[in-house]
Amino acid sequence: MPRRTAHSLTTSEKLLAFFGGTFDPIHYGHLKPVAALAAQAGFDQVILLPNNVPPHRPQPEATPQQRLHMAKLAVADNALFSVDPRELAVETPSYTIETLATLRKEHGDKCPLAFIIGQDSLLTLHKWHRWGSLLDFCHIVVMARPGYQEQLDTPELQKWYDAHRVNDADALKQKPAGFIYQANTPLLDISATEIRERRHAGLDCSDLLPSAVERYIESQGLYRE
Ligand code: ATP
Repeated sequence: MPRRTAHSLTTSEKLLAFFGGTFDPIHYGHLKPVAALAAQAGFDQVILLPNNVPPHRPQPEATPQQRLHMAKLAVADNALFSVDPRELAVETPSYTIETLATLRKEHGDKCPLAFIIGQDSLLTLHKWHRWGSLLDFCHIVVMARPGYQEQLDTPELQKWYDAHRVNDADALKQKPAGFIYQANTPLLDISATEIRERRHAGLDCSDLLPSAVERYIESQGLYRE
């Protein structure tokens, strides 16, 4: 018998969601909207995927191990989340599309997979490697982010977005990949940049990230030099 829940009317497949980021450090602007989204869209699990950063871009201040550790501390008490270290296990930056192709192979053809991004990432998605093929492997779920416009910059990106957008999160369980869902998540005006800047200025960040992460940052002397 297919399992029937408020979010799952046609399939017994689980809906897994992946959330990539530099997480330098992870903060409530990541965690709170994603938790709200998971409840809204019926995600069974959210898997954090900390990224390596390409050598030509500004490098994170924390090491890959520190970023991974902070991600693990942030979700240690929340069964919704887990952390997948695969992109940090290799020295070179991974393209998101390659990670998604591997995840699709691991989970089989039928399992719905969602990849979560913030509005700022949607606005630059047309610069991602093989961005037009991302929906072959997963759905894309977009969280609003304060300060970032809704209007997409290129007609090509806008056309792609309009062609795949769905208004109902239930659609995400009805096929394994291929939809874009614009989620109505709480707006939190928090960035890792702001946290690093506040730390460098000797300011308190306790309202911006989980206390276990803050304690770890303090113990490692991160973002102080
Ligand atoms: P930085 O300030 O160093 O650029 P960041 O705070 O944007 O970092 P990232 O690790 O780069 O954090 O972001 C990972 C993902 O989380 C991206 O898809 C980004 O759009 C999203 N994101 C980050 N902060 C927020 C926020 N406050 N609201 C919604 N989405 C967010």
